[in-house]
Amino acid sequence: MPAAPLPTLSPAELARYSRHILLDEIGVEGQRRLAAAKVLIVGAGGLGSPAALYLAAAGVGTIGIADFDRVEEHNLQRQLLHGTGSVGKLKTESAAARLADVNPFIRVQPHIDGVTVENALKLFSGYDIIVDGSDNFATRYLNNDAAFLARKPLVYGSIFKFEGQVAVFDPARGGPCYRCLFPEPPPAGSVPNCGEAGVVGALCGVIGSLQALEAIKLIAGFGEPLIGRMLTYGAFRQQFNTITLPRDPDCPLCGRAPKITALHADNYQAVCATPPSSSSSTSTMSNETHPLEISVEETKRLLETSPEGVVLIDVREPHEVEISRIAGSQHIPMRQIPERLSDLPQDKHLLIQCHHGGRSMRVTEFLRSRGFTAVSNVAGGIDAWSLQIDPSLRRY
Ligand SMILES: [Zn+2]
Repeated sequence: MPAAPLPTLSPAELARYSRHILLDEIGVEGQRRLAAAKVLIVGAGGLGSPAALYLAAAGVGTIGIADFDRVEEHNLQRQLLHGTGSVGKLKTESAAARLADVNPFIRVQPHIDGVTVENALKLFSGYDIIVDGSDNFATRYLNNDAAFLARKPLVYGSIFKFEGQVAVFDPARGGPCYRCLFPEPPPAGSVPNCGEAGVVGALCGVIGSLQALEAIKLIAGFGEPLIGRMLTYGAFRQQFNTITLPRDPDCPLCGRAPKITALHADNYQAVCATPPSSSSSTSTMSNETHPLEISVEETKRLLETSPEGVVLIDVREPHEVEISRIAGSQHIPMRQIPERLSDLPQDKHLLIQCHHGGRSMRVTEFLRSRGFTAVSNVAGGIDAWSLQIDPSLRRY
């Protein structure tokens, strides 16, 4: 931790942190270390929210919040840093206001660009510990690589459906990194759109709180950090397990002969976004008249100029259609498509639409494989439609 002399604590701070100070493992010394510490939280979302709230309340002197996003209503189900009054504001702004109220003795540093390939190393260098609250593979690998190159411990956390994981990646202290487990991100297009995965908010609370606890242990210097171990949690059966994580001597980042020695944008492509049509277009049926994928602007133009010739098919789930739908669309949930092929007109141009364009691309490719030639995916789905065509549609 920092070599500079530790700050002294005022009587008000000593009173505020008395329940920490009563613990022999923390004491005044440990609390002063917390006051001197700088922790960067990447992502002010489901994991970053509980992590930031606990670290702020614990008296971590400087908390950086890196996030480029704005608060949306559907975030509030789990992202406790933000409230209804913050919808539309930058998450960094909303987080800074909330954390200042939690603890006026700390400093909150917003980083409104989030973590990028360009800024990651410099950004991480200004902190002692990085807490990964990201929700996608591209950022997770970027955080891992930048933390390793900047020689900073990375407190990793992730959730999927009803399960969560926590670990501390700190090769400088002998532990593995994320690439020791998973050397490369999954191939583009193989992961469903991240925004469409469901999650129980309280699970984020469990995992984000565990991340805060690991950061506090590292700073104050007590207990055994999760270096070389991963804690897994299953909410269904309320089970915690710890597995040993060995370091991989052939790891492309922290191994003996590393392939990755600097940050290059090519290594951090989004893998959960809609695959670009060029890479996924293996079908020879794609043609000029009916391209594999069209924009929402083109969709609007087709609906207006040839309403008789096109059919817009919404393949989302019924509860999503209740939130918002594009006027004139026909609803057939994705899973019903195979059994309802006879309902689809062969003589019209079918425009397939979902939330972000991932599911509808799969449906588009499926229909082409079944002999439908005039079928196109609506790129970006209803979310792009609400951003570019009709802002009155509710986003989620
Ligand atoms: Zn490694």
